[in-house]
Amino acid sequence: MSRKAAEAPLDDSPEVDNYVSRVLKTTKPLPPVTRENFLSELNWFNVAILTVVHITSVAGICCTKLRWETALFSVFYYYISCLGITAGYHRLWAHRSYNAGEFLQYFLAVAGAGAVQGSIKWWSRGHRAHHRYTDTELDPYNAREGFWWCHIGWMLIKPRRKPGVADVSDLSQNKVVRWQHRYYLILILVMTFAVPTAIPWLGWGDALGGCMYGGFVRLLFVHHSTFCVNSLAHWLGDAPFDDKHTPRDHLITALCTLGEGHHNFHHQFPMDYRNAIKWYQYDPTKWFIRACEKLGLASHLKVFPDNEVRKGQLTMELKRMHEAQEKLVWPQDSNDLPVISWASYVEQSAEWPLILVAGFIHDVASFIDEHPGGARYINKYLGKDATTAFFGGIYGHSNAAHNLLAMKRVGVLHGGIQLAVDDKAVPPSQRLTVARYAELLEHHVLRVDKEVLV
Ligand SMILES: [Zn+2]
Ligand SMILES: [Zn+2]
Repeated sequence: MSRKAAEAPLDDSPEVDNYVSRVLKTTKPLPPVTRENFLSELNWFNVAILTVVHITSVAGICCTKLRWETALFSVFYYYISCLGITAGYHRLWAHRSYNAGEFLQYFLAVAGAGAVQGSIKWWSRGHRAHHRYTDTELDPYNAREGFWWCHIGWMLIKPRRKPGVADVSDLSQNKVVRWQHRYYLILILVMTFAVPTAIPWLGWGDALGGCMYGGFVRLLFVHHSTFCVNSLAHWLGDAPFDDKHTPRDHLITALCTLGEGHHNFHHQFPMDYRNAIKWYQYDPTKWFIRACEKLGLASHLKVFPDNEVRKGQLTMELKRMHEAQEKLVWPQDSNDLPVISWASYVEQSAEWPLILVAGFIHDVASFIDEHPGGARYINKYLGKDATTAFFGGIYGHSNAAHNLLAMKRVGVLHGGIQLAVDDKAVPPSQRLTVARYAELLEHHVLRVDKEVLV
């Protein structure tokens, strides 16, 4: 596919899948990575950076004494760099989940440069494609390609396809984003090495410790923290809002990523400034943005209507309940049972223990001796209508008894039941039921048909 075609005006077709399948059909990916072409398919620039960071960090830990002042500073600086990514790159620029004043924007742009993850514009473009084409080949860190691919592999190997189109025109016009893009290399050097070396050096005379722990080791942790949002957050945990795609919610991921671990919520409601909706759930990025609002540095924090959020949760709960419901065996529907006349019922019950309750004929052969109230009461009503007796005339049976009785249905008495859904013919276990929309429609059509027939 030509570059021009990839940059074509946004296709706003309602079905992303259609767009994705069309692009996949009409464009050719790079050939698969094999042992033969492996070296030429590596992104050597990224390989070099990540290798240097890993090796130097390990060497630094082994060979450099860690002073407590430097340790505290490194942790503090880790939080600053991570906030540059989570509160800045991600929630402010990629998702526009709040407005930030110029001071906060410059702070986040500079702090984010210390995380060495590309400029705001490049990062946000990839991330918007990740949200728009989640789990497809147009998602730059497609979780379906495996844990290590979306954690780090996608940076080490040249992408097989260009990410799907994503609009970043708003960022092209942003003064701070443009400034960071222009001075990105200088900002990296200053924020990644100069600052974390200079502060421990001037503060307590530990330039080497500052460079190793505040610079390299901190960067190693910042990298893997962010990488976990693309890997762990798509693998570990539950999907309480929607299970269509791979994003998941888990506290461990949240702990590793400054609160970005409630990723199932985030993919459903990406413009919400929160990842974790409850105030007490671990999401330091959300707390930071809230604090900035209180200080007058941020405004217009976006929150999805709670009513809509709860709809998503309810849908997933109903889905789980529907699955549990489907695993149980239910009574036969009246439409599937033979319709028997009163005379035939009486005649057949002389040979076989049949009992009539609420218009249904039940085979109680296997139950007579197990009846908690004694066999006598059942025998007394064989071949008769036991509805009144069953519903309190002799004994007001429990819900469990109603449910069990319904399982013994073998026929419907001609003219014996009404069409109402909430009458005695419906056992308690079915008075509340989880039905798919299609099932409701089917039921409605059946009822209409019956009414027409009547
Ligand atoms: Zn994601
Ligand atoms: Zn996002």
